[in-house]
Amino acid sequence: MFEKYNVIIIGAGAAGIMCAIEAGKRGRKVLLLDHAKKIGEKIRISGGGRCNFTNLNIHPNKFISKNPKFIISALNQYNQEDFIKLINKHQIKFHEKKLGQLFCDGSAQQIIDMLLLECQNAKVILKKETIVYNIEKKDDQYLIEANTGKYLCDSLIIATGGLSVPKIGASAFGYEIAKKFNLNIVETLPALVPLTFSEKILEMCKELSGLSLEAMVSYNKIFFEEGMLFTHRGLSGPSVLQISSYWKLGDDIKINLSPKIDMFKFLENKKKLEPKEDISKVIFKILPKRLASLICKEVGVSGNISEISNKLLKKLSNQINAWFVKPIGSEGYRTAEVTLGGVDTNELYSKSMMSIKHPGLFFIGEVVDVTGHLGGYNFQWAWSSGFVAGQYA
Ligand SMILES: Cc1cc2nc3c(=O)[nH]c(=O)nc-3n(C[C@H](O)[C@H](O)[C@H](O)COP(=O)(O)OP(=O)(O)OC[C@H]3O[C@@H](n4cnc5c(N)ncnc54)[C@H](O)[C@@H]3O)c2cc1C
Repeated sequence: MFEKYNVIIIGAGAAGIMCAIEAGKRGRKVLLLDHAKKIGEKIRISGGGRCNFTNLNIHPNKFISKNPKFIISALNQYNQEDFIKLINKHQIKFHEKKLGQLFCDGSAQQIIDMLLLECQNAKVILKKETIVYNIEKKDDQYLIEANTGKYLCDSLIIATGGLSVPKIGASAFGYEIAKKFNLNIVETLPALVPLTFSEKILEMCKELSGLSLEAMVSYNKIFFEEGMLFTHRGLSGPSVLQISSYWKLGDDIKINLSPKIDMFKFLENKKKLEPKEDISKVIFKILPKRLASLICKEVGVSGNISEISNKLLKKLSNQINAWFVKPIGSEGYRTAEVTLGGVDTNELYSKSMMSIKHPGLFFIGEVVDVTGHLGGYNFQWAWSSGFVAGQYA
């Protein structure tokens, strides 16, 4: 015998819970299934435990998708202000850290508790540790077989997220269901992920491991000016994570280690005004000491600036303002914050997130080919896409 529901949501992450709340508020009988023991693990570990739950500057240009316009409808229906209203309703204190990024003052658990309370109020039935074995479409309904029972629904929502951080429950389930129903998948790749290097650059990164600075990292015409961190595997920090979502294997990225200063002009000027100044001391004023020493050694400059040819000063400037490096890959899904690609947006109605081919089947959140920049954009996509599906499911 099948238990009957109006709406079944598989995946109780940010998007799935938001959808459950909204559908429940509309009086729909909602069942929310998750294979995990504990709900909201990604929310709990997000933003260093404080959850960067949205951004004040939400705009479609902060998202990557094969169809960049797809996100507009969901954002028009539910944006950062709507989520902030919900946060305020629950009296959760928050602050802007930088660049419009909003974090809880306390802990990310407050967001999970808020969502679970809203679920309870909307009479959502939550079943954890549920393994779904099979999904079939019969007439206009979806039949679901799982270890916790057999279920039947009019609207089935897939909200199982992407592939990042498998140790806290990520799975390819959503993509497999999409394939089963003949929906196209845009190639998936780890994104917002540290980049790895080999040989000389790796040695340099190891030597500088732990050192961070503000840098401008660019790829083609896209650039991010934020923190950059040397690690024992390569490069990380916000600017590198951001560019990782755009970078293609085999290509270089360009790093400006001192984006506010035109180094050649600066060094030329120094040479004129303070010719006796030691070049390392000059560079120490611009870059952290360890990095400055390494660059001077690499370029082969030492001694008084007046004794260094303009050709060498140019080489040194380029090494600082336009350092080209070729990553050999990324740290992969183990540490990636998100998955690039996913269910092709051409398969879905942007207004409702429902499948065009299969009425009643919806995909929301990270499983869809919409990836936000770092800074609260991915959660906003989860809230917005979950909200709209909740209005139509
Ligand atoms: C370390 C880290 C930090 C992050 N920090 C931020 C941040 O501060 N701000 C931000 O905007 N974004 C952040 N992100 C990204 C953000 O967490 C995700 O984009 C967001 O959680 C996606 O929501 P979702 O509901 O689509 O998927 P998820 O949150 O991944 O939820 C998917 C749910 O589906 C369940 N599931 C998976 N497979 C199955 C299955 N086969 N059967 C049943 N259930 C299943 C999972 O257990 C999970 O509960 C971070 C990500 C990571 C990894």
